[in-house]
Amino acid sequence: MTRPFTSVLIANRGEIAVRIERACLELGLRPVRIASEADRDGQPGPEAGGPLVVGPSAPGRSYLNQAAILLAARVTGAEAVHPGYGFLSENADFAEAAEQAGLVFVGPPASAMRTMGDKIAAKRAMIAAGVPCVPGPGEPLPDELETVRTLADGIGYPVIVKAAGGGGGRGMRIVRESAEIADAVAITREEARRAFGNPALYLEKFLEHPRHVEFQVLCDNHGNTVWVGHRDCSVQRRHQKVVEEAPAPNIAPELAERIGMRCVEACRQIGYRGVGTFEFLYENGEFYFIEMNTRLQVEHPVTELTTGVDLVHEQLRAAQGAVLEIGRFSGEARGHAFECRINAEDPTTFVAAPGRITAVHFPNGPGIRVDSHISAGYHVSPFYDSLIAKLIVHAPNRHEAIRRMQIALSQTRIEGISTNLPLHARIFADPDFVRGCVDIHHLEKRLREEPRVEA
Ligand code: ADP
Repeated sequence: MTRPFTSVLIANRGEIAVRIERACLELGLRPVRIASEADRDGQPGPEAGGPLVVGPSAPGRSYLNQAAILLAARVTGAEAVHPGYGFLSENADFAEAAEQAGLVFVGPPASAMRTMGDKIAAKRAMIAAGVPCVPGPGEPLPDELETVRTLADGIGYPVIVKAAGGGGGRGMRIVRESAEIADAVAITREEARRAFGNPALYLEKFLEHPRHVEFQVLCDNHGNTVWVGHRDCSVQRRHQKVVEEAPAPNIAPELAERIGMRCVEACRQIGYRGVGTFEFLYENGEFYFIEMNTRLQVEHPVTELTTGVDLVHEQLRAAQGAVLEIGRFSGEARGHAFECRINAEDPTTFVAAPGRITAVHFPNGPGIRVDSHISAGYHVSPFYDSLIAKLIVHAPNRHEAIRRMQIALSQTRIEGISTNLPLHARIFADPDFVRGCVDIHHLEKRLREEPRVEA
């Protein structure tokens, strides 16, 4: 359902809530902020333009509490709800409940979220749209072990067992030989049942040295769809992205255009709306679809800087029913952008490091963007994700963007808590990373070779 609206409840927190709030103000929309008790500390109340407290600190009782959020929308007169990323952003039931409560959900229709939220259904939909997928059947794994063994032999080891409902890098297990498959399936199934409430598993080829390359799409409610550039997010630890860049280096433009147009076709077939990302593994010149994220992503700024498209504006406009002027977009990038995810965590053990920030200094100047909600005195809560800032740079080419990020990192100060800034400095000094095109295992390999990061 799309319809014009004038106010938007932001069902999120942290840097992304600040980002969406600013976009609303720019479009003349009234943003409505909510907060948990942990996030309210030190902020003005709703009467002074501060957030409305929707529940206690535990996310399940605040940012994931659908009834409390819908009630907050009602009492504040909000007409739309923007879920940001994480929390309720990929929850089709919430999208439906919001619409039933008379709100516009800033995101795709619930049906498209359901299809893409189930990785098996997603893979099937992609195969139907001609999007290349990782070798392996787009079918749930049966219970009989013999059939599983036959399937795995057919694909060829190593294979990866994945949960249909998996997310956040969880619910996956690599299997290198047939003797390990029974245990891997049993453990992953149990994990999937407990963590995602969905025991369905599927099997695909495990690619040994792929890069992670993803395509950004944008759709209105009238059948107009474009792809607006690609990103490389291969610098990962435990399947979590650490550094992202746009465009993905060394991808032939004709190949990118072909894959981008397949993504556009897939959006048409599933009746998609708003912004979305098709994630691929890229190995030996071939793309293999792994999943679609039906929401705004953490790394959206690198695309914004290299395409000039404000993805949050476009997302809000699509939800209002505006017609996308396709002619304004092209998949071509201007210059190069990087993003560093700055987390409150120990730079060597990666354990979350909540606490009070005593001083903050971010660099600024040409080609530097900081998306963050922190300031001196801010208390990083142990209840939520440890992301506290995104440092983003843009320059005419990759080489200059690297130099710009190296300097920006050296001028960033966050005191009072530990952060992964030393890890970022190390990544941007790594000759392999600087050369470009490292695979998804590169960072972990480096960390195994030299576990210590000098502060
Ligand atoms: P999630 O929803 O948890 O992010 P994905 O399916 O996107 O799960 O996979 C996350 C990461 O796991 C990928 O970025 C990649 O590093 C790794 N991965 C997933 N599938 C494969 C595969 N078939 N081969 C190799 N690595 C994979």
